[in-house]
Amino acid sequence: MRPTELLCTTPKGLYCPPGDFYIDPTRPVPRALITHGHADHARAGHGAVMATSQTLKIMAARYGADFAAATQEAKLGEVVAINGASVSFHPAGHVLGSAQIAVEKDGFRVVASGDYKRRKDPTCAAFEPVACDVFITEATFALPVFCHPDDRGEIAKLIHSTEVFPERTHLVGAYALGKAQRVIGLLREAGYDRTIYIHGALKSLCDLYREEGVDLGPLAPATVDTARKGEFAGAFVVCPPSAFSDRWARRFPDPLACFASGWMMIRQRARQRGVELPLVISDHCDWGELLQTIEEIAPGEVWITHGRDDALLRWCELNGVAARPLHLAGYEDEPD
Ligand SMILES: [Zn+2]
Repeated sequence: MRPTELLCTTPKGLYCPPGDFYIDPTRPVPRALITHGHADHARAGHGAVMATSQTLKIMAARYGADFAAATQEAKLGEVVAINGASVSFHPAGHVLGSAQIAVEKDGFRVVASGDYKRRKDPTCAAFEPVACDVFITEATFALPVFCHPDDRGEIAKLIHSTEVFPERTHLVGAYALGKAQRVIGLLREAGYDRTIYIHGALKSLCDLYREEGVDLGPLAPATVDTARKGEFAGAFVVCPPSAFSDRWARRFPDPLACFASGWMMIRQRARQRGVELPLVISDHCDWGELLQTIEEIAPGEVWITHGRDDALLRWCELNGVAARPLHLAGYEDEPD
């Protein structure tokens, strides 16, 4: 069979004709399979949604319990028939609950990886390579310039900064789903055992991570009104990056803006946001990890979704791997 008979692009997203379902559709559809809970992949308003139990819980936390007419839990590794196709979900290592979706018919398999990373992450299951004929990869950081440093080194910088500036509140900007919990988890792994304060917008997802067994250590709301004098001096306050520019941020003593993102590789982005301490911590593969993954899986063909596809296409061409860009609309350059 031709690969596009199993999975093809449509204005609503990736569609599987024999299974009559979409993967991460960008508009409401009767049946959607969802790789993970980030907003451009997981939207409300579909008929039936199939996803891992953690992704279903994340969607319910963000959109309310009625985010879809019906839901079906996908157990990792379990093969399920949907109309004329078989599907299975496999860990993607991106955020809690994130999964690659393998779609198979007549022995031909396409894997839609969604977003993924290869680094160890204390808050989610590690990426598992799945043999396939077509591997669909993201390309968020698909340029040789993106070589993310070891995240333990970035966390050590963060902790060191509180030793150098013990009077300053360290505001750590991190996206609410995944990055915030990972930064907290990495601080715990580094032996930081003091209370970490969180912005109200992070509470429900941090609670959900804890209910799912992720150890985040002692957390407390970052409420200045009831704080004891000096409580926030030298402390970490984790918040959504958008909170930096709010009046909220100015309530803390001499705040020091830190931001955990793969984009912090680009100094100009850090300066534009007024970030004093950029931390390069990404929930996506860097260039080397993308190549490593393609070499490891050795698929017959690579399809490239959102991101910078040119350099990756060229690399595939030079290395004898058939590849094409999908040009799917509706996915943001994820803030990471
Ligand atoms: Zn994502």
